[in-house]
Amino acid sequence: MSKDTVTSGIQFREPSGRVIPWHALDEKTLLRKLQTRLDGLTPGEAAERLREFGRNELPERKPPTLLQVFLHQFASPLIYILLVAGVIALLMQDYKDAVFIFAVVLINAVIGTVQEWQAEQSAHALQTMIKVRARARRAGHQLWIDSEEVVPGDVLVLESGDRVPADMRLLQVNNLTLDEAFLTGESQGVVKRAEPIPAETPLSERVNMAYAGSTVLTGRGLGVVVATGAYTEVGKIARVIKEEEGAKAPLVIRMERFARQISLIVLGFAGLLGVISFSRGEPLNEVFILVVAMAVSAIPEGLPVAMTVALSLATRRMAKRHVIVRKLAAVESLGSCTLIASDKTGTLTVNQQTVKEIVLPEGSEILISGQGYNDEGEARLRTGEPLSEAYAVRLRAMAVDAILCNEATFVREDGHWKYSGDSMDVALLALAAKLGLSNQDVRREHPKLAEIPFESEKRYSAVLYATPSGRRLVVKGAVETVLGFCERARSLEGEQPLAAEALAEMAMRKAREGYRVLALAGKDLGPGDAHALSEADLQGMVFEALLCFIDPLRPEAKEAVETAHRAGVKVVMITGDHPATALAIARELGIAETQEEVITGQELAEIGTPEVPEFYETIRHKTVFARVTPEQKLQIVDGFIRLGEFVAVTGDGVNDAPALKKANIGVAMGSGTDIAKDTATLIITDDNFASIVAGIEEGRYAYANVRKVTLLLISTGLAELVLLGTAIVLNLPLPLVAVQILWLNMVTNGIQDVALAFEGGEPGVMKQKPRDPKEGIFNRKMIELVLISGLTMALGCFVAWIWLIRQDVDIETKRALLLTLLVLMQFYHVLNCRSEEESAFRVPWRRNPVLAIGMVVALGLHVVATEVPLLQSLLRLSSIPLTQWLVMGVLASIVLWVVEVYKAIQRRRTAQA
Ligand code: ADP
Ligand code: MG
Repeated sequence: MSKDTVTSGIQFREPSGRVIPWHALDEKTLLRKLQTRLDGLTPGEAAERLREFGRNELPERKPPTLLQVFLHQFASPLIYILLVAGVIALLMQDYKDAVFIFAVVLINAVIGTVQEWQAEQSAHALQTMIKVRARARRAGHQLWIDSEEVVPGDVLVLESGDRVPADMRLLQVNNLTLDEAFLTGESQGVVKRAEPIPAETPLSERVNMAYAGSTVLTGRGLGVVVATGAYTEVGKIARVIKEEEGAKAPLVIRMERFARQISLIVLGFAGLLGVISFSRGEPLNEVFILVVAMAVSAIPEGLPVAMTVALSLATRRMAKRHVIVRKLAAVESLGSCTLIASDKTGTLTVNQQTVKEIVLPEGSEILISGQGYNDEGEARLRTGEPLSEAYAVRLRAMAVDAILCNEATFVREDGHWKYSGDSMDVALLALAAKLGLSNQDVRREHPKLAEIPFESEKRYSAVLYATPSGRRLVVKGAVETVLGFCERARSLEGEQPLAAEALAEMAMRKAREGYRVLALAGKDLGPGDAHALSEADLQGMVFEALLCFIDPLRPEAKEAVETAHRAGVKVVMITGDHPATALAIARELGIAETQEEVITGQELAEIGTPEVPEFYETIRHKTVFARVTPEQKLQIVDGFIRLGEFVAVTGDGVNDAPALKKANIGVAMGSGTDIAKDTATLIITDDNFASIVAGIEEGRYAYANVRKVTLLLISTGLAELVLLGTAIVLNLPLPLVAVQILWLNMVTNGIQDVALAFEGGEPGVMKQKPRDPKEGIFNRKMIELVLISGLTMALGCFVAWIWLIRQDVDIETKRALLLTLLVLMQFYHVLNCRSEEESAFRVPWRRNPVLAIGMVVALGLHVVATEVPLLQSLLRLSSIPLTQWLVMGVLASIVLWVVEVYKAIQRRRTAQA
């Protein structure tokens, strides 16, 4: 490296080791000190710097170690109680019980650790799927790179919506404003400049610097990276801008609260029963351990855990279907979505714009053949004749305009066409290639002097470029907008007065056929200086042509719209495009049928704001919102929320962020801007509308699974509590001793409840109406199911106990039989819980192989416990003959039959309704 800077162990510094005041340097010094060029580093240099300086990443929060996760399992009140119980048992020299209690706590901790570890790993995997990319210039080519591969000296291009990936010194700006709130606390956008400023300027006033972590609100910029990773300003203050980690889903919080309330009631109840049995002369230590065991039986401590498992399994399944959940909460909320407000371009369509027709102001129509982004295709007159020389010249001139009023790249490399940038712009470069023009050559021959970049709310872009004889101004954009800038129109005979209405009518006709129509206009200016361009300069332009693009529909979109409709989810389209184009596409997808369902942004603005009833009464019946600005998108979302809908809205741009935030579920597109992704709750990695519907489906499955686990845990807890309570109140011998209750809840049933969380989705789910988001888990149906199944099990066991205590065997044998009966009942009951409506016999095993294994393991463990001497003595069990197993197997199935009958009645009721 040169003598100008040193780099050992640090990034670029003065030879003295002092920090270089990047903001004070002129362009040449800056580039020299960073040993780079405006053309960017070569790939080789970049690779070497990456090795030397490391990846551009901030020091990460360390993931918890396995040991930490394990220890974390012990931080629960229930475990404290158990540990105290174990210690008491030790003090009372009740070693068997003590060993057993500690063993149960240990097993429980191991199961918990495995689950939490897996959830942690998959959360981490999801994080790495959300990639930030940067537009780097390397050896003269602009390309996308992983933002972690940005190195000092890289030349980067910034666009509105980007997150600045590293500290940069800006060299070119065009209306560039940044949000630096995270660094300076200033929430206003900061206008950036490119000129050097005094070295002593404080950080917050360095207007020619862009610091890592800030976001681009408007405009474009170009700069050189001066520091990456830990050497950036954010890296230095080590204030890692990160989503608050471990935020729990509201459902989990609600469940924890519910579990706590139940626990209090149960503890009170167990205490009362304890007092009763103590007053009857039971020894204190046994009473204590019994109270503990009863608490364990009825406290649904497994609920929050099983729920987290269900939700985190859902996030994994969703990721496979291209839905990345940024917050666990979104899984639950997706299930209650009632309305999807979707973008058109790229979400419902593939976003592979292709110019198909060019309509000239005098009415001639030129067809362009070919599809997609390549140079295969040619121009022909609609009448079938080949183009005359006069047309060919005009077309080529238009293509030059289109190449220059354009921000995309399109190059042929190793026989393949590579492109980046806005799809409309790429389409225009492909058109130029079909006409035999190289965009690189054209750009070299006609330097850009000034430009107004495309922003979706302006609906046009403009450029001023140098020609051999002077300068030329070109604008392209929405037809209405461009017509407003024009005074004349070009024809084969020369410039003519503008027939604005006829042109608008022509554009309308094309839009109705589903084309997206852009207008192109230009104006030749004499020689002059480069100067900043503003909308005021766009006057007296000459209308050149209408360009008609086709963007094919996504093949899956139509079916996904149907699925959504069947699931009771409304679908509306919000687009910046022309109403006629939007309706044509909406019709094809089944989103809209008639003109009545379409409304434009302008018509909406005339009605008012979401607060006035006319506003939301109007949008209630609309499905296509065309020519809508981002603020109106926010208003539409607001309006639908006021109508009581639970809204998922898609977005990709900077200005979509407020709407994404306002919506119940903000859905960002994987290809969208960093800002959109930062505010969204979900990211759809393939931009595909169908994935949103898939997400809703998975969300519903997840919620259903949470209900299933809840049903299992609460009803079995209820059964045990009622059984024990009745026995104590009626002064019967206790049907179970403490260790047996622990065994039941933390081992056999403990395995099954987690396995149940793996249940796959029931197909009927997408044929139901969305659930009311305000409705809790304990709706009427859940309460009925819990009471019916819980009381059946309690009653069955109670009757069996009455019979057993009359038999002439010792109490240990009686208890062994009763415990086995309960284990078997819960075994059958798991089958009940697999579906709230369907018969247990109709739920296929392939939907949850984990459960099959879990049930076999649970039962197997119990068989082992009754046969192996060590466990026998710990659990006070004895070997059970096969005939008795069979008899109890039949008896225990009562819970299955009762719930089957209940479900059948319910099914008949809904069928009649
Ligand atoms: P959508 O909601 O379909 O994505 P956009 O907000 O991207 O719509 O675009 C709105 C309008 O702006 C388009 O109908 C078109 O007239 C115009 N437009 C789109 N892209 C460009 C571009 N790259 N340059 C100029 N005008 C454009
Ligand atoms: Mg768009």
